[in-house]
Amino acid sequence: MNNQHRTHPRPRVVVIGSGFGGLFATKALRRAHVEVTLIDATGHHLFQPLLYQVATGILSEGEIAAPTREILRRQQNARVVLGEVTGIDLTARTVTSNVLGRTTVHGYDELIVAAGAGQSYFGNDRFAEFAPGLKSIDDALELRGRIFGAFELAELAETQGEIDRLLTFVVVGAGPTGVEMAGQVAELARRTLREDFRHVDPTSARVVLLDASPGVLPAFGEKLGGLARRRLSGMGVEVHVGATVTDVDTDGIEMEDGDGHGHRFDAATTIWAAGVQASPLARILADQSGAEIDHARRIVVQPDLTLPGHPEVHVVGDMAALDGLPGVAQVAIQGGRYAADAIERRRAGKRPRGPFRYLDKGSMATVSRFSAVVQIGSVEFGGFLAWVMWLAVHLFYMVGFRSRITTVLHWMVSFLGRGRAQRVATQQQVYGRLAMERLFEEFEAAGIGPGSPRVSSGPAPAVTGRGAASSGGG
Ligand SMILES: Cc1cc2nc3c(=O)[nH]c(=O)nc-3n(C[C@H](O)[C@H](O)[C@H](O)COP(=O)(O)OP(=O)(O)OC[C@H]3O[C@@H](n4cnc5c(N)ncnc54)[C@H](O)[C@@H]3O)c2cc1C
Repeated sequence: MNNQHRTHPRPRVVVIGSGFGGLFATKALRRAHVEVTLIDATGHHLFQPLLYQVATGILSEGEIAAPTREILRRQQNARVVLGEVTGIDLTARTVTSNVLGRTTVHGYDELIVAAGAGQSYFGNDRFAEFAPGLKSIDDALELRGRIFGAFELAELAETQGEIDRLLTFVVVGAGPTGVEMAGQVAELARRTLREDFRHVDPTSARVVLLDASPGVLPAFGEKLGGLARRRLSGMGVEVHVGATVTDVDTDGIEMEDGDGHGHRFDAATTIWAAGVQASPLARILADQSGAEIDHARRIVVQPDLTLPGHPEVHVVGDMAALDGLPGVAQVAIQGGRYAADAIERRRAGKRPRGPFRYLDKGSMATVSRFSAVVQIGSVEFGGFLAWVMWLAVHLFYMVGFRSRITTVLHWMVSFLGRGRAQRVATQQQVYGRLAMERLFEEFEAAGIGPGSPRVSSGPAPAVTGRGAASSGGG
C-alpha cells in the first residue's frame, strides 16, 4: 500500500525502531497534534539490559520483550507497523519497509530514526557463526540452547578431552554484558546445575573472560573494575585482559596476550560481547545528507540531533554520534524525548529549546548474585547495596506491571534459591537459525530474494586490528 499521497490533516511523524529511543519518542508525542507511525522489524520493545538473564535461563523472553502494540494501545495518535526499513528517501520524504515481500512506503513530515546498533566482530564477521553475540531475543535463545546443550553433551561424552572442551565457556569482551554473562555461566555451573548430572561434575566447568583492554569494566574505572575482577576470580572465572582474539572456530578460540604469545582455549561455547556497530540505516542517511559516519558506523548528528540541512530528520540513541555520548539506554530515552519535544515546538511555531543535553544518571553493572557496581558522578561503590539498587532500577524501567511481577518471582527462584525457571531450549533455537541464515545466503547468491533487497550490514571495519576490544553499549 502506498499512503504517500493521501491528505493528512495532522503532520505525519514516522518513527523507525521501537527500542528505547523510538518507544520513548512515540510516548512523548501522545498529546501532540500529530499522527505517529512506529515501524519496527520486530513486534516488541526489547529490554536489552536483561537479555543475559534470558540466555542463562533466569527470565523468559516474554518478560523482557513487551508487545509494542499493547504498550501503545491507548495512544490513539500512534499506529504500530511491522516491517524492516530498507530505504529512506530524504528528498521525497518517504520510508520504505518490507515484511515477507510486502513493501510499504510511508510518507513523513518529521522522521525519527532510532534503529540502534548490532554486534561488531571488528572485520571478522565469520566469527559470528561460532561466537554468537547478544543483541536480540533470537541471540539469547540460541545462547541458552548452546550453554545448556553443552552440559547435556558433556554428560554423554566419552573422553576427558571432550568433556573439558564441552565444559569450557569463553566470553569475549569484559564490558557489562561480558561480565554479566561470565558471572551467570559460573553461577549456573556452580549453583544451579551442581546436582543435576551423574557422569560429569558441572562445578568443574571452566569459564574464561577475555578482553583486549587492560582491565575489566574499563568504562567504570580502576576501582570498580578491580572490584568486579576480584569477585569474578572468587567465583572461579579466569580473567585474561590485554588479550586479542585472533581466531574462533567450532572447537575453540585463539588469542594473543600483551607479550605476543599465542594461546588456544578448546571450548564448545564462545560468546561474543565485544563490540557494537550502528544500524546500516546510518549509512543510508549519511549518503543523502552528507553527514559523517564514525568508527562504530554511527551517524554524526547536529547538536539538536538532526541531520545537516534536514531539520525534519532526527536520529537518536545508539545510531547517533554526538560529543562522545555512550551507547546506553538513557542516552536513547532522553534523545527520543528531546526529538519529540523539538517536533512539537517546530510544529507549533515555537523557537527550538537549544542543543541536546544528556543528563548522566549514573551507570551500573551486575557481576553475580548479590554483587554489582554503581557509579553516580564521583560516587562509586560495589557489593550488595549496589546489587539491590541495580534490581530496583531495572524493575522500574521494565515495561508492564505483569512482567515486573513475574520477573521478581523468577529472581527469587534464582537468587534466593538455586533454580532457573527458564531452562527450555529447543533444537530449532540452536540449529534452525544457523540453517536459515545459510539458506538465506544461498538464496541471495542465487539472486532469489524475498522481494526487495534487505538492508545488509556488510563487512565491519577493522576498528582495533584483530578480534577483541573494549565492549560497546552492552
Ligand atoms: C546485552 C545488552 C545489555 C545492555 N545493558 C545495558 C545496561 O545495563 N544499561 C544501559 O543503559 N544500556 C545497556 N545496553 C545498551 C542499551 O540497550 C542501548 O543503548 C539502547 O537499547 C539503545 O536504544 P536505541 O533505541 O538506540 O536502540 P535499540 O533499543 O537497539 O532499538 C532499535 C530498534 O530498531 C529496530 N530496528 C533496527 N533496524 C531496523 C530496521 N532496518 N527496520 C525496522 N526496525 C529496525 C530493532 O528491532 C529495535 O527494536 C545494553 C545493550 C545490550 C545489547
